[in-house]
Amino acid sequence: MADDPGFNGPARRARRGWAPTWLWILPLVAGAGLAVAAFVLAQLIADGPSPNTRSDTRSLVRLLETLAQGARTSESPEAFEGIAERPRQQLVDRGVDFSGLMLATGGDPALGSVDQLIDAALSRAGADGSQTESDDPVIRLLDSIADEQETVIGQDAAALSALRLTTAALAVLLLLGAVSIAALIGRSSRSLQQARITEAGARNSLALRNAELREATERLEQAVVLANEHAVSAEVAGSAKADFLARMSHEIRTPLNGVIGTASLLQGTALDEEQQDHVETVRMSGQILLDVINDILDFSKIEAGHLALEETPFALDELIFSTADLLATRAEEQQTDLLVRIDPRCPTACLGDPGRVRQVLLNLVGNAVKFTKDGYVLIEARPAGTTDDPALVRLSVTDSGIGIDEERIDALFEEFTQADTSTTRKYGGSGLGLAICKRLVGLMGGEIAARSTPGVGSSFIVELPIALARDSDPG
Ligand code: ADP
Repeated sequence: MADDPGFNGPARRARRGWAPTWLWILPLVAGAGLAVAAFVLAQLIADGPSPNTRSDTRSLVRLLETLAQGARTSESPEAFEGIAERPRQQLVDRGVDFSGLMLATGGDPALGSVDQLIDAALSRAGADGSQTESDDPVIRLLDSIADEQETVIGQDAAALSALRLTTAALAVLLLLGAVSIAALIGRSSRSLQQARITEAGARNSLALRNAELREATERLEQAVVLANEHAVSAEVAGSAKADFLARMSHEIRTPLNGVIGTASLLQGTALDEEQQDHVETVRMSGQILLDVINDILDFSKIEAGHLALEETPFALDELIFSTADLLATRAEEQQTDLLVRIDPRCPTACLGDPGRVRQVLLNLVGNAVKFTKDGYVLIEARPAGTTDDPALVRLSVTDSGIGIDEERIDALFEEFTQADTSTTRKYGGSGLGLAICKRLVGLMGGEIAARSTPGVGSSFIVELPIALARDSDPG
């Protein structure tokens, strides 16, 4: 099995095809990187100058300009001349540190930041946030800037913490998203791997089934070849058997007919009663033997497919009456009424093999008479035509004889079958008559069936597609 490429090949392919570990680690690493980047960016934004700080700077520049302007018009304009001359950009670049506010702070250059400058200016003026407004316009201006600055700083702090919070939340969300995507990819990859393994298994078992199928097909082909050979030899053997039977039955029938004929002749001579009995036994035995031989010959001919059917016009009513005549004497001997009823609507002009139709009818009526003592046997003919088969004629033979058990009825039409083995001893027969009838009826394109009630009687029905036309002359 390990050598079978169909077994290991797909499984190996499935393992190679399975998404490598990096495929589901990648989103995790990417998500984590994004989260860290977002966090660092937030920190950079928080640490950098805010728009509010820049607007403060502009306000201070405006203040410096105002102060410089005021200094020019004040008592000692020369003290601020240098300040007024400084370029605005230089002040902005230096972060508005000290020069312009020396006026307000009393010229202390050590004070660096805007807050310190403002605080120093306020303390120099002797004013703080709780004091009432100063009359000094510079102090008032500084107060208002300080207030504005505090508000702006407060707002900036709030905005910054909100920004930090949002960024942190965003980072966590990104991380969670990355983890979920990684989990999803991992799961679907596992299912994919499972599906591929299953597919590989299915392919493997399919390959096995195919191999088995090929083997079975080969065996079947060999069996067919063998069967054909057997069929040919069986056909040869069958035809040899039919030939043999035909020859043998001819060889047997010729002397048998001699025995029967001589016995009949002997019966016409002066014999005492005992001698008559012996001669009758010889004649009857000869007759039964002849019937059996005829049945066997017919049956083997039909089985070998050597029976050719005639197709000639005949009169059905005449055929029925002549058959009844053949058995009338025997029926009379048994005090059995032999009746014939032909439906006036029944077409009597027929086309077919009258010899074989007579053989079927003779067998059925013969059986009916044989198994009916002191009763009646009724032969009937009536049309049974349908739109599919308008030529159908129904022949039935009904008797009030011993009847047949229901469970044995179907087997009656099989060869060498008798309803009751004791009937052979009592009534004779080979068990071939009904089997021959069924095959003959089948060859003529018809059907045969039986109905019976033990102790009440039996009915055998034959339907044959033989009608030519109603009331027309068969010619
Ligand atoms: P056989 O030559 O023995 O009569 P058949 O094939 O003609 O052979 O009949 C088979 C058996 O069917 C008979 O032995 C008999 O038991 C039964 N059978 C046939 N016809 C009748 C009938 N009309 N009434 C009762 N039994 C019948």
